[in-house]
Amino acid sequence: MSDYSIETKCVQSGYTPENGQPRQIPIIQSTTFKYATGEAMGQLFDLEASGYFYSRLQNPTCDHVAAKICDMEGGSAAMLTASGQAANFYAVFNIANCGDHVVSCSAIYGGTYNLFAVTMKKMGVDFTFVAPDCTDEELEAAFRPNTKAVFGETISNPSLTVLDIERFAKAAHAHGVPLIVDNTFATPVNCRPFEWGADIVTHSTTKYMDGHGAAVGGCIVDSGKFDWLAHADKFPGLCTPDDSYHGITYAEKFGQGGAYITKATAQLMRDFGSTPAPQSAFLLNLGLESLHVRMARHCENALAVARFLEGHEKISWVNYAGLESSPYHKLAAKYMPGGTCGVVSFGIKGGRDAASRFMANLKLAAIETHVADARTCCLHPASTTHRQMSDRELIAAGVPGDLVRFSCGLESSDDLIADIAQALERI
Ligand SMILES: *Cc1c(COP(=O)(O)O)cnc(C)c1O
Repeated sequence: MSDYSIETKCVQSGYTPENGQPRQIPIIQSTTFKYATGEAMGQLFDLEASGYFYSRLQNPTCDHVAAKICDMEGGSAAMLTASGQAANFYAVFNIANCGDHVVSCSAIYGGTYNLFAVTMKKMGVDFTFVAPDCTDEELEAAFRPNTKAVFGETISNPSLTVLDIERFAKAAHAHGVPLIVDNTFATPVNCRPFEWGADIVTHSTTKYMDGHGAAVGGCIVDSGKFDWLAHADKFPGLCTPDDSYHGITYAEKFGQGGAYITKATAQLMRDFGSTPAPQSAFLLNLGLESLHVRMARHCENALAVARFLEGHEKISWVNYAGLESSPYHKLAAKYMPGGTCGVVSFGIKGGRDAASRFMANLKLAAIETHVADARTCCLHPASTTHRQMSDRELIAAGVPGDLVRFSCGLESSDDLIADIAQALERI
């Protein structure tokens, strides 16, 4: 379906039934698959033939949905994972092991920061964090001889900075390594990072892709554009024989478009097993079918809310890349001309206490740690996720005490604005 527009891909890519087959993607609720001879199954275990044998590695329902996301991003291969955390872990660990180093943008999701700076560090992978608006010299200085990848988020959660994808891709390629972009907040409806030089894209499908707060999940997509064999010394896992599969070399046997995802499936999913349930993949696909319609509405609501807040006397600042006043407006206009995302953050005059009272006054917007849902939800980190921190520590962590993160759902923007207005009125 690669010639169709993104709207058509959201609805139809990944599954084309033949005569008499189910119109909707079937949920193949089976852990295992039957073969007539041990010989036939042995071929699968040797990666000599493709097919299903155990759902920890691959399942047809999950593969249809992965194929849809692959097509939406314009990639060569994709896999679903049980969560966004698993997607980012696999995406990096597939090419960076003990003794290796990765350059990451510092404006990233807290869970990813912890994965990189604490857990993967314990596994021997070192990270250098650079600000999204660092100078070219600062970016250059972050690389080491053992650097294996560069990582960033299209729109960062929760700080809402916009990654200059072309600039980061150029720096990564100058050092012979790929750029991995977490495209969760923009989704392929608003931005396709491969068109700007990114090599691998990841998603927490838990957010807009599912969009209904129904299923946790993740996805990794390979562009097929990174030439692993041209940098074989950096990527021995892809470019030298794998003894656990009779000495096949992924980059040779599966080519530039297939090597990375085949290795992630055959080694990482085999050994770590963060596999999604077929039922969850089915639910994810229902979300994907309306993603293009929903993203437009999320963005429209967020822009209306941001404009209202910007003009309100009790609001000290508003952060939304869709606003002309945002320092990221130019980058957003380049990479996401159709809209950014539905999340807006802002500060309330009066600081931590005023923000806390504002939250308690809201009637329609629910207090949740979740974002990117059909129902509007919001979070005041200083009184919830970051409540143990002092005002000074909050500023250092990039979440000042007055910050409210507001994830605009699909309701009427008039009702959302009226809810915010009455909540501000009463503080
Ligand atoms: C939520 C999120 C993740 C983690 O995904 P889970 O599905 O919660 O595991 C990763 N990256 C970004 C940008 C996110 O918003």
